[in-house]
Amino acid sequence: MAEPLFKRLALIGIGLIGSSVARIAKDRGDLAAEIVVNARTQKTLDRVVELGFADRVEIDPAKAVAGADCVMLCAPVGAFAALAKAIGLHLMPGAVLTDVGSTKQSVIRDVGPFVPAGVHFVPAHPIAGTEYSGPDSGFTTLFQGRWTLLTPPPGTDTASVEKIAELWRRCGAMVESMEPAHHDRVLAIVSHLPHLIAFSICHTADGLADESRQEVLNFAASGFRDFTRIAASDPVMWRDIFLNNREALLEMLSRFMEDAQGLARAIRWGDAEYIENMVEQGRKIRRSLIEIKQA
Ligand code: NAP
Repeated sequence: MAEPLFKRLALIGIGLIGSSVARIAKDRGDLAAEIVVNARTQKTLDRVVELGFADRVEIDPAKAVAGADCVMLCAPVGAFAALAKAIGLHLMPGAVLTDVGSTKQSVIRDVGPFVPAGVHFVPAHPIAGTEYSGPDSGFTTLFQGRWTLLTPPPGTDTASVEKIAELWRRCGAMVESMEPAHHDRVLAIVSHLPHLIAFSICHTADGLADESRQEVLNFAASGFRDFTRIAASDPVMWRDIFLNNREALLEMLSRFMEDAQGLARAIRWGDAEYIENMVEQGRKIRRSLIEIKQA
């Protein structure tokens, strides 16, 4: 077994992502010698003790990070500013502070000001997830073959960036660095807009008259069913993502609405070629995803 990358890893928030990292750390033994877990509620920490993947649980985030050489924020991004404020002064000199938040400019904006000199801040985002949440939902293969994007601000200590990259490689992920604004635009189209559409289509179906609503549920074909899976995600997490990637998401939404209008126009005027081309484009994208094993 390789040397553990860190002596003590403090996970702040322990839902799907945090508990997957904790399970991997416990199983492999080479991520960190000790795992400390913090959550907002004692109920979650009690469950973490039952699940057995933490060496210690701590309800006070300041106490959780004390003496940790790696601190990973795994709470919803809307909680990051308050968490950073609570832990900032308690971070150990030389420690690496990282996160798993789905938006990156907002995380740098909210956490950056509370990072003391001598602590290395390496924002990160594992692009892997399910619609489940909480400490029971994590599993050790979640990040296998998936990307983790790092968005270190210019001048970040390269050794710390490399340690976080190695942590994610040991979790099974492929790692790439990206500029935070670029990250937010890319994620707006590949993740945030599809979720917005899924929530909206469920809302539309739910607003139908009673008898049609029952039929929607009874005869849900795979198209609608796939949307309902995406729409089953955690409300707080998605509220925070939408509010913290506002500009990029609204830009992608307006592009999408133009394209949807284009398709509507083609349907209205019987433009068969336009419709066929648009469907063909969708098939091409699906084929290329399968080829690069990201389907
Ligand atoms: P989750 O399953 O909903 O768990 C959230 C955890 O954060 C819980 O342990 C919760 O504690 C804690 N928490 C919530 N509010 C808090 C607060 N105000 N202060 C301190 N702790 C708080 O979340 P998740 O799906 O793992 O997502 C965590 C982060 O990963 C988010 O930033 C999300 O954007 C990002 N992410 C998610 C996915 C995904 O698909 N789920 C993928 C990539 C990245 P309690 O249980 O005690 O409330």
